[in-house]
Amino acid sequence: MCVFCKIVNGEIPAYKVYEDEDFLAFLDIAQASVGHTLVVPKKHFSNFLEADEETISKLFVLAAKLAKQITQNLEVAGFNILNNNGTVAGQSVNHLHVHILPRYEHDSITIKFAQNHLSESEMQALIARISHK
Ligand code: AMP
Ligand code: ZN
Repeated sequence: MCVFCKIVNGEIPAYKVYEDEDFLAFLDIAQASVGHTLVVPKKHFSNFLEADEETISKLFVLAAKLAKQITQNLEVAGFNILNNNGTVAGQSVNHLHVHILPRYEHDSITIKFAQNHLSESEMQALIARISHK
């Protein structure tokens, strides 16, 4: 059983922020920033692609509500919503989850995108590949 299923089942403790019949939110054990929270469906899905549409919708609606609550109550200026899928993307727990990362001036989180510029034809080729059914 995965570590988040164990938390859901009460086999290991967690600092719970929110709970309902289908979802649980708790503080990440490694507080990347103060208030770093994870939102998980109680049912085990390995990742974003495995979950059904209803679970995905409810998960993100709940993440939005909690982000608002965290923003107001911890008085943060901004936040990141993050969902890692696959080892290459940094997923370390294979139970679908969304990170809510409150952001502060001079915090130690770095999310910086490379600036890669493709040619017109490369961009067109990408559209064709992505849109392919
Ligand atoms: P990810 O890298 O997206 O799979 O995120 C997994 C997160 O789960 C990491 O940020 C871990 O710090 C966190 N984590 C792992 N075990 C626990 C635990 N027992 N309680 C709370 N958070 C945990
Ligand atoms: Zn699980």
